[in-house]
Amino acid sequence: MRRITFCLLIALLFMFSCAQAAESRTFFAMDTMMTLQAPDADDALLDQCEDRIYQLEEKISVTNAESQIARLNAGEAVAIDDEVRSLLAFAFDMSDETGGALDITLYPIVRAWGFTTGEYRVPADEEIVALLAYVGDRSISVSSDTLQLPDGVMIDLGSVAKGYASDVLAGLLRENGVDRALVDLGGNIYCIGSKAEASPRRIGLQSPTGDSYIAALSVSDCAIVTSGVYERYFEADGVRYGHIFDPSTGRPVNGDLLSVTVVGKSGARCDALSTALFVMGSEKAGAWLRAHDDVEALLLSEDALLITDGLRGIVKISDDYASLPVQWIER
Ligand code: ADP
Ligand code: MG
Repeated sequence: MRRITFCLLIALLFMFSCAQAAESRTFFAMDTMMTLQAPDADDALLDQCEDRIYQLEEKISVTNAESQIARLNAGEAVAIDDEVRSLLAFAFDMSDETGGALDITLYPIVRAWGFTTGEYRVPADEEIVALLAYVGDRSISVSSDTLQLPDGVMIDLGSVAKGYASDVLAGLLRENGVDRALVDLGGNIYCIGSKAEASPRRIGLQSPTGDSYIAALSVSDCAIVTSGVYERYFEADGVRYGHIFDPSTGRPVNGDLLSVTVVGKSGARCDALSTALFVMGSEKAGAWLRAHDDVEALLLSEDALLITDGLRGIVKISDDYASLPVQWIER
């Protein structure tokens, strides 16, 4: 009898501890495996985080016909909510700031190549030229209650959504008293560091081949976003076509960068910039970074590592990449 009581007690304690300390949560949303590691969060808080992401996805997914973005893309006049409005305004500002390297109106092109639908193909030159006529519209105003896109114009927030989502989750966790957590939304990481922790976290930056690490960053309380085309691409006639496009050509970026990591306080900004700097290529990206010191970055090209000076002492290059020359971007 005593043994049964003891077992029951252990089982109850176990159930109780499960309800209290959830430790981590993995789920699939926005076409990505997402993991939240938050030792001090309980299950209810992680449920709230997960639901928040599904709500966001429901509003902005281009493949869910009911979403605000999909309805805009279908030509409807849509009463967009405040969150979608501010995300759109942010994305348009980032287009301006990056000289059009980031451009959410690229969607007709992205779709024609089969990204987001999964029906991959290489469109004919004439088709690309025709679709480019709908890209780069700077007249879209998000200030009125309802928004309607000009005929043929379509948008996609895929380049900023996960970074934004990481900000939302970091905010939600912090508001609920969590002061150490790792939010990992497939290449979009937000690290909430604890002052009580003796040392910052070390975040590994995956190599483009996915089988090793370029470097490790010792950070706390910031976003770390990596863009590259090694995860999402298709191959046709021996050519690899990645999912990041050059808005000036309507074709997948074919520049000199293999991977771009951006570190900063805002996940949305880091996400926008990791995509935009990847489009720019090392020369323009280096110049852009020299003129902006609110973010840090690590750019991997075929023959060098370009690293902003703010990462000195924070970055540790892995042995696999130690032979590449490092060019420091001084500000
Ligand atoms: P990931 O989704 O792997 O984190 P990115 O943040 O770099 O990658 O965003 C790439 C996505 O954004 C593409 O899948 C496409 O939908 C869209 N996109 C591609 N090129 C651009 C661009 N130049 N500007 C804005 N959006 C883009
Ligand atoms: Mg991005």
